[in-house]
Amino acid sequence: MTRMPALFLGHGNPLNALERNPWTSAWAALGRALPRPRAVLCISAHWFTRGLRVTAAEFPRTIHDFGGFPEELFAVRYPVPGSPELAERVVELLAPDEVELDEGWGLDHGAWSLLLHLFPEADVPVVQLSLDGSRDASEHHELGRALAPLRDEGVLVLGSGNVVHDLYDYSWARDPVPAPDWARRFEGRLREQLLAGDHAGVVALPDSGRDAASAVPSPEHFLPLACVLGTRGEGEPVDFPVDGYDGGTVSMLGVRISAP
Ligand code: ZN
Repeated sequence: MTRMPALFLGHGNPLNALERNPWTSAWAALGRALPRPRAVLCISAHWFTRGLRVTAAEFPRTIHDFGGFPEELFAVRYPVPGSPELAERVVELLAPDEVELDEGWGLDHGAWSLLLHLFPEADVPVVQLSLDGSRDASEHHELGRALAPLRDEGVLVLGSGNVVHDLYDYSWARDPVPAPDWARRFEGRLREQLLAGDHAGVVALPDSGRDAASAVPSPEHFLPLACVLGTRGEGEPVDFPVDGYDGGTVSMLGVRISAP
């Protein structure tokens, strides 16, 4: 079976689900360029739990986990099947760490706002794995290492977050706003570390000083990247198929790990 690439994508504003813009076009192009996956394992910033959980429902519901957006966004459904079989496989790969099978969660907007552009037919089954609030970036990287065999089993590992995520200074006007210098410096360092394969540097980056404190004010939008990076095999190249800034202070950087 073809080894799947792994992806981390910046989801930005939930309205990207409805819009057609350079980011959504890039996601759609990525979806078309991928070898067709058997299933997707999505790790989203918006499922942050105590301990690890994995969605086990046959048909995960579409969760509208936000407020203050137009009705049209609440009407969005992504009617994709789940994969209880993949959920069981995740439990097996992460053992002896405990992962709870979860029937209550579904797909949050971190997952579906990307997936409906990547796979508009909703015909690739999706399972979500939560982030564990008791683990740091380095421990999420370890989880990714344990999940790496999935890439040889036809599963697309998809992280959804934003490597720079400052909503305090975010512009909600949906017009282009230049990113501040601190954001560009932070993202620049991250890109260098990714290209150099310096994963220890990447997982330490959120604690690396003032730029980092602005870029990563809380861990959940950064951790999915740490997890996805853990699946990177020796010598596998990375590239950045999506970039730019949503509202000035949310980096839309996408990271693709390619199979050799
Ligand atoms: Zn988000």
